[in-house]
Amino acid sequence: MLNINDLIRSSIRAMKPYSSARNEFHGEASIFLDANENPWNPPYNRYPDPLQRELKGRISELKDISPEHIFIGNGSDEAIDLVIRAFCEPSIDNIVTITPSYGMYEVAAEMNNVKCVKVELDPGFKLNADAILNTVDEHTKAVYLCSPNNPSGNVLNREEIYRILKYFRGLVVVDEAYIDFATSPSLLDGLVGFPNLIVFQTLSKAWGAAAIRLGMAFASPEIIAVLNKMKYPYNVSRLTQEYALKVLSNVEEMQRQLKLIRSERERVADALSRPPLSYKVYPSDSNFILTEVGDANKLYAKLVKQGIVVRNRNSITLCQGCIRITIGTPEENDALLAALSS
Ligand SMILES: *Cc1c(COP(=O)(O)O)cnc(C)c1O
Repeated sequence: MLNINDLIRSSIRAMKPYSSARNEFHGEASIFLDANENPWNPPYNRYPDPLQRELKGRISELKDISPEHIFIGNGSDEAIDLVIRAFCEPSIDNIVTITPSYGMYEVAAEMNNVKCVKVELDPGFKLNADAILNTVDEHTKAVYLCSPNNPSGNVLNREEIYRILKYFRGLVVVDEAYIDFATSPSLLDGLVGFPNLIVFQTLSKAWGAAAIRLGMAFASPEIIAVLNKMKYPYNVSRLTQEYALKVLSNVEEMQRQLKLIRSERERVADALSRPPLSYKVYPSDSNFILTEVGDANKLYAKLVKQGIVVRNRNSITLCQGCIRITIGTPEENDALLAALSS
């Protein structure tokens, strides 16, 4: 049986977290003279709930998962970094990730003087569990996966992920920033069976709230407790918590937009793959399309001249000649297609 406690850096295990005024007081009170706040300008004069209880209650309802399995951070970026800092001893431990994938895993590792070992995906951007399992060593604390993967857009094979979860004796992080756009289910239902699984989701993509910076990590209560111990006391502002509650109360609107983005994705993919463009289009379970266009640098520059910015992925592993296109409004997508054909 994998013991999460054995994986934590010893200094973090031993450390006593900062205890804020809002943390220490539990109960009913009407006069708050404990946190050196200005008594006027409510409600923003008060420090926000450090554990975001109301918001976790709502997420718990939506995802059908109890609040002690939920961590909320200042974007997924916070959780990506915290997992490395909690479990990887600088200059000794490492993480293993896939390539091509999201650049922040490596940046967060390097920032912490933790080595990031990258394993190339198989053709078709497929996950190969054996390749990962053959790469991890006794200093690998976490494997970072991304599904649907950025920039390839595809969902990673579930059985391969399960094999890594089963045979790797460390943490397996699955970044599901784009899961709402996929037809296959989230790995959240695997939390019960796999104490080493951490799932990241975010309000930045399908929920349309990238500006407020809100990321979620779902994991065992033991892992969540470590992340809570390490985070800044008030890592998620009151403004963000309020707006997140508002966004999460309107599931119908999110689903309406999701449907439109999915149908636009199929329309754009179709147009890209047909003459006159005839690009190679990789299948997408996300809100973007990776497409091979030939001279990606030239095409990128041409689009910029027409005021359209896409993501040039030409220099990324296995993505030579590729650009990544985010699905916009129907009008924006029309403008893109017109510019490409011009
Ligand atoms: C966009 C994206 C995120 C979102 O990060 P936030 O910090 O929550 O905005 C996370 N992971 C991947 C792979 C992404 O592409």
